[in-house]
This record gives sequence, structure tokens and C-alpha cells, in this order.
Amino acid sequence: MPVGQVIRSHSNIYYVLVEGREVECRPRGKFRLDQTQVRAGDQVEVRLEPDGEGRIEKVLPRRNCLERPPVANVDQCLVVFTLAEPEADYLFLDRVLVHVEQAGVDVLILLNKIDLVEPEAVDAFVRTYRNLVGYPVLPISAQQGLGLDELRPHLVGRISVLAGHSGVGKSRLIRALEPGREDVRVGEVSAKSRKGRHTTRHVELIPLSSGGLVADAPGFTYLEFQDIDKWTLRDYFPEFVRRQADCRYGDCLHRKEPDCAVRDAVEAGEIPETRYKNYLLLLEEVEAMKRW
Ligand code: GDP
Ligand code: ZN
Repeated sequence: MPVGQVIRSHSNIYYVLVEGREVECRPRGKFRLDQTQVRAGDQVEVRLEPDGEGRIEKVLPRRNCLERPPVANVDQCLVVFTLAEPEADYLFLDRVLVHVEQAGVDVLILLNKIDLVEPEAVDAFVRTYRNLVGYPVLPISAQQGLGLDELRPHLVGRISVLAGHSGVGKSRLIRALEPGREDVRVGEVSAKSRKGRHTTRHVELIPLSSGGLVADAPGFTYLEFQDIDKWTLRDYFPEFVRRQADCRYGDCLHRKEPDCAVRDAVEAGEIPETRYKNYLLLLEEVEAMKRW
């Protein structure tokens, strides 16, 4: 039986990519599948009917599953950021990176709108987030098409979810990658999002002609860190993790503890000061949640 991938759904109809063709599928007879059972990104076994439609017989086990946006089998998050408009918000960026670490998917930071900023500023950003923090960073311009040839191979055969402030260029990027899709308008992501705000919105996975699927979704929503403890938060900062074996205390939170290798690295300029400051802010947030 052919296996396909669910790319979107509408009421009880699922659109499944089967061997490169989009097939309209209904769940099998007596089962009424709802959104929690089948979601975008799912691999499903499909029985093709003579009328050209399909029946979903089975949902294959998921590798992972995001709740907001509701997408299964996510391979990576493309975190879109810019040094032009809207104003660079590093706390927001670091918060998104923590959420992506928590979701357990790969990260690729796309520094967009490089046509609008000085090359030195681009280099400084790359040095900070690629060399010091350790995430892959790709400078691009969705508008001018810069960096897109380097980006495409990262997308082939994978499910990517976009995250980033409204206005950083997520929709423009999808249109640049897929010129046929002038209709794309990626939903907004707001740091102030609260529970439930995006739950009713349907996710669509856009098949790229060069291969791969990109979620046209509001990206990640940023609930407070109710389900993170302080040490888990700490462990979502990869540049800390690489050093904390050298802290005097194994449970060091890198605040005021003596002989802290992370604080030493901040002082030596090996860990970006902004990352450390943002970590302290997020740590306060986590503690405030716990007290509450
Ligand atoms: P979204 O809210 O993240 O989907 O952002 P949009 O894709 O709607 O882009 C916001 C604005 O930034 C639009 O006016 C785009 O044309 C513009 N924009 C997006 N990417 C670039 C870029 O690489 N360079 C320049 N100069 N403008 C861009
Ligand atoms: Zn420490």
C-alpha cells in the first residue's frame, strides 16, 4: 500500500502527497480521524480508490510532534532574523532558540535582509551565533535572492517550520523559494501569544519544487516556560553546556557561584554577553513561574 505525507487538512479531508501527486483522502470508514490523530507531516498508508481519491488506512509512528504549530515529523526550524526592520530583538531570538531546543529539532538561523545592512554587521552576527554560540547561520536576502542557492539543499527531503517575528520576511522567503506561491502569507508570531491563540489555524505544508516541505504556519508560539526547570533551561544554551563541566559545582546555574567556567568565558569574550544576560532574564522568568 502506498505511503504518503499529509500536507494539509480541511474538515475531515486530508490532502496527502503520494508519489509526488496530491491525493484527496478520507479516513477509513468507521474511524473518524480528528486533528489530534492525523496532522500535517504525518506519514500515512493510503488505499487508492478507483475514483482517484484515497482512504487513510494507518498513521505511521511519528518521529516527533509539535503542538504549536501542530506538525508531525519536523526536521528543522528555520529561525528567521534580521538586523534591518523590525528592530533586532535578541531576547526574542534567544527565547525562540530555547523553544526549538526544547522541541528537539535542528536549528538553522536565517539572517534575512542582508541587502539592507553593512557587511560588517552581518559578519559580527555570524561570528556571534555561529562561532561563539554554535548554531548554523545563513545570511540571505529573500528579496534579492541572495543565499537561496545555499539554503535549498538544507530543505530537500525535510520538513521545515519557520519561526520569527512578524515582518522579518518569512512569507517573502517562501515566495522567493517557490515563485508560484504568491498567495502565501505566513501567520504572525508574537512574543505575547497566549494559550489557544493559534489552535484553530490549519497548518499547510508547502511542497517546494526543489524538494522538501515548508510549514506555512505561525511558527512557534511563545508560552511562558511552565514546563522547564532552571537546569533544563541552562542546558538549552549549547555554549554553556560545552563549558559547564569546568564549573566547580555540577548544579551551577552560572549566576553567583564561585569558580564558574561560564562566567569566566563571558568575561573572556568567548560567550556573548547578550546571550548570558538573556539567559539570566529567562532564568528569572522560570523562577517566577515556579513561585506562582
Ligand atoms: P513575515 O511577516 O515574516 O512573513 O514578513 P514578510 O515576508 O511579509 O516581509 C515583511 C517586509 O519585509 C515585506 O515588505 C518584504 O518585502 C520585506 N522583505 C522581506 N525580505 C526582504 C529582504 O531580504 N530584503 C528587503 N529589503 N526586504 C525584505
Ligand atoms: Zn557555572
